[in-house]
Amino acid sequence: MDISVVVPLYNEAESLPELFEWIERVMAEHHFSHEVIFVNDGSTDHSWQVIEQLSQQAPEVVRGIKFRRNYGKSPALYCGFEQAQGEVVITMDADLQDSPDEIPQLYRMIREEGYDLVSGWKQKRYDPLSKTIPTKLFNATARKVSGIHNLHDFNCGLKAYRREVVKNIEVYGEMHRYIPYLAKNAGFKKIGEKVVHHQARKYGVTKFGLNRFVNGYLDLISLWFLSTFGVKPMHFFGLLGSLMFILGFISVIIVGFGKLYSMHAGMPYRLVTESPYFYLSLTAMIIGTQLFVAGFLGELITRNAPERNHYQVEKRI
Ligand code: UDP
Ligand code: MG
Repeated sequence: MDISVVVPLYNEAESLPELFEWIERVMAEHHFSHEVIFVNDGSTDHSWQVIEQLSQQAPEVVRGIKFRRNYGKSPALYCGFEQAQGEVVITMDADLQDSPDEIPQLYRMIREEGYDLVSGWKQKRYDPLSKTIPTKLFNATARKVSGIHNLHDFNCGLKAYRREVVKNIEVYGEMHRYIPYLAKNAGFKKIGEKVVHHQARKYGVTKFGLNRFVNGYLDLISLWFLSTFGVKPMHFFGLLGSLMFILGFISVIIVGFGKLYSMHAGMPYRLVTESPYFYLSLTAMIIGTQLFVAGFLGELITRNAPERNHYQVEKRI
């Protein structure tokens, strides 16, 4: 099979028939063999009935997954990826903001130009300003942290992947914003971008509020930490802990010797407990020790992680 289209959706009943018809039109024009996987993420409207109808209409094309409750876009993508059979996997939002007309070009970039992942770039967006401005900032940070400097739009719903990519990354939580970063961490280096058409939402409302930006940043920090220290937490906590401890230790010695020296020289002196530096160094030593212990705990946890020895083996002979 050439293409799997994965569509995560939450309360998008009005858009689905139009979206499906459009996808079918594009696929027929270009003679692709394909499937469309609708992942109904616990919709409370009649999205599932619509998917059932579409599936009766085209049983060999339409696949449907229905969650019992709303889990989020990342879990929906995860399950869609698990099921996808096509050589190229395309994800798109269900709200008709992404255009199926981009599919043939994305497919060509993966198959002929050898990209592992091609992300859409909504260069001209039809979204409110309250969304486009924070998005610019968000993308700048994501570029810096991930080291993928050529992407302008990390969170674009329209993306294309080589099948190996989706089978070897694990999207969870709200990590759908950082799939290129996940792919890069899994060793897929050829990540490209294509300018895509974007439209204003035709039906329904957006499913993400402004808290997407706060959560997005926190997730980015977690991802950075995991990709840098995930299997060797001691390298992070141990370094910080040692620095703190040494700092505290040296200053406590200075405080102690300072007093001994003053006594010896017959100068006026104070109790060490009267010096604020004494308490500062004590605190530094305690925090240093705690960071160290956190490092050991981290090591114990990673030692037990089932994926501690999962590597991406590309080829064997
Ligand atoms: N979506 C989902 N589960 C959710 C929230 C959103 O499957 O919990 C889907 C939604 O139906 C749409 C896509 O994710 O197909 C993108 O959502 P939306 O269009 O609301 O995001 P925006 O375009 O505002 O970034
Ligand atoms: Mg949308």
